[in-house]
Amino acid sequence: MAFSLGQILKARGRIAGVAGGTPLVPSAMGARFGQELLLKLEIAQPVGAFKLRGALNAIAALPNGVRGVTCCSTGNHGRGVAYAARARGIRAVVCMSRLAPEAKVEGVRALGAEVRIVGDSQDEAQAEAERLVAEEGLTEISPFDDAQVIAGQGTIGLELLEARPDLHTILVPLSGGGLAGGVAFAAKRINPDIGVIGLSMDRGAAMAASIAAGRPVEVVEVPSLADSLGGGIGLDNRLSFALCRDHLDEVVLVSEEEIYRGMQALYYEDRVVCEGACAVGIAAILAGKIRLQGPTAAIITGRNLDMGLHADIMAGRDVRLGDYVVKGQAYGA
Ligand SMILES: *Cc1c(COP(=O)(O)O)cnc(C)c1O
Repeated sequence: MAFSLGQILKARGRIAGVAGGTPLVPSAMGARFGQELLLKLEIAQPVGAFKLRGALNAIAALPNGVRGVTCCSTGNHGRGVAYAARARGIRAVVCMSRLAPEAKVEGVRALGAEVRIVGDSQDEAQAEAERLVAEEGLTEISPFDDAQVIAGQGTIGLELLEARPDLHTILVPLSGGGLAGGVAFAAKRINPDIGVIGLSMDRGAAMAASIAAGRPVEVVEVPSLADSLGGGIGLDNRLSFALCRDHLDEVVLVSEEEIYRGMQALYYEDRVVCEGACAVGIAAILAGKIRLQGPTAAIITGRNLDMGLHADIMAGRDVRLGDYVVKGQAYGA
């Protein structure tokens, strides 16, 4: 499947005024590492996450007379699709697994979409979306493996390099790779020397395992503080795998404890409330897994988390993730 900078430029026009132009602000943590550290605040999106970019672009690109759309989602893509479908006046059915947090399910419903909760994995939610395509004539909007979705997410790369042509490195949370693939593609077309690093949690990171294996592979999905990074990349992946394999310089994995500290640091140092999925870049810097070598931008991808969980982490309490307990620690202790 072909993919081009032209598609990303076209996406920018389609999403302008709704999902484009989020703030890029300095982090107070930069001084500690002797480099400029910038936060691209996708938490300022109308649905609280960057996924609105891809969903708006993909739904805007659908032909007239489309019956409605469906998708599987860990939550944020569902919000984006729900928002974009409502804006275009078409039906949206969002399929989610039982792992999706309640806050995310409610968020999708509040935007007017129908929600189907099916199974214990993204793969089962995906199967339900495919059934809706076959039986009800809905059009599927993939959360990451769709050229229009990737082009929408790639607009973040354009915005970053326009604001800061001198950027040395971009840190991108990585799950299905629509975001990382689009951002890395756009950034490297503009500056081939820029570094783009993908970040995932160290339990159940499908793209990292797939790149290491040289082909899409399945991993076991487990509950994570970075719930938005869960799910597979699809064994029949068409586009996002190749884009990430060819354009990411490195993939770095962080532990749940490191994510926990990253969330605390973003809150206490920068007053940013965000999901675990967004804290992976900061987590890797704090853990010494990434060394800043020039102006660096971390994409803070979404803020749609359960506020009880956020309060527990900020207070340094233990957090249970299925069988796994993330040992709490007060910030700075
Ligand atoms: C979807 C999502 C990601 C990962 O994006 P992919 O395109 O699946 O790699 C990261 N952070 C948040 C908050 C997300 O919702």
